[in-house]
Amino acid sequence: MADNYDVDELSALLIAGKRRALAKAITLIESKKPEHKKLAKRLLERILPRSGNSIRIGISGVPGVGKSTFIEAFGLYLIEKGHRVAVLAVDPSSQITGGSLLGDKTRMEELSRRNEAFIRPSPSGDSLGGVARRTREAIFLCEAAGYDIIIVETVGVGQSEISVSSMVDFFLLMQLPNAGDELQGIKRGVMEVADAIVINKADEENLQRAQLAKKQIENALSIFLNVDKSWKVPVILVSARYKKGIDEVYETISKYVKIKKKSGEFYKKRQQQSIQWMWSVVVEGLKEMLNENEQVRRFAKEMESAVINKLTTPSFAAENILSEFKNSVCRG
Ligand code: GDP
Repeated sequence: MADNYDVDELSALLIAGKRRALAKAITLIESKKPEHKKLAKRLLERILPRSGNSIRIGISGVPGVGKSTFIEAFGLYLIEKGHRVAVLAVDPSSQITGGSLLGDKTRMEELSRRNEAFIRPSPSGDSLGGVARRTREAIFLCEAAGYDIIIVETVGVGQSEISVSSMVDFFLLMQLPNAGDELQGIKRGVMEVADAIVINKADEENLQRAQLAKKQIENALSIFLNVDKSWKVPVILVSARYKKGIDEVYETISKYVKIKKKSGEFYKKRQQQSIQWMWSVVVEGLKEMLNENEQVRRFAKEMESAVINKLTTPSFAAENILSEFKNSVCRG
């Protein structure tokens, strides 16, 4: 029964690496019931000291680029190397469609049958902020359950890539070997957060096109101001279908982690991500509080029309709303 949670037992089973306990724990943290929130908090506080011991890898790309084919091949490769692999998904379409872009059950069939792998679809029916928050907590749970490689997959649309890049150590962007003037609509912001770019479907017969695409992407990358002196973003040719280039991806990530751990940046980045996460939850909470305050909401409506009618500027109106909120909190 999903409602029947014994946090002591659940955390013990989870720490012992039981997959069912991990799945149940994730269901608990995804629950919106107020009584579950308390239990989820206790569970997370219990397992938190055991979290963190993993490499967190974000993987993104448009639907059809070959993410699941790649993750299946990569996951099996990692298991052969002695790792335990958890795959989580952040699906920005889940809010509308119930997770159709990533939620297909037939994906990664071979990997999902392995004991050393744990695959979980995106939490659904929530805003991107909500999905991201729960995925971050699911990462902790997977780590406490002994998974030492955490893959967070997302689709190359909207804000989800930026959100995923802020919860992982290494962000991999997948591209198709399409040589052309336009760079497959790669958004500049996304390119800038990528730690490596994989050109998938670089099969034998596509190799020339893939090499051309590689050159183009390398050129595009070279125009960015390289702020990270210790890392040059590599472009790697992969054929997920024929399991080519998988070892190069593994070696690239291992090299990155080694460099960043040695310089201390690895840990600093994680600390910054945690602090940023904390503040984003504060800001979200404040917004909710503003929205739930009837008086402030009414006053905000007045301010909106004042802005539209040019009676005041947006920033003065915002200050007024904040003062109104402060006053109402003090009065309350
Ligand atoms: P996703 O939507 O990004 O998860 O993409 P899928 O992994 O479902 O792959 C989409 C299609 O591309 C499928 O038909 C795959 O078999 C195919 N595909 C994936 N990787 C390769 C590859 O390396 N070469 C070729 N030729 N096809 C591939």
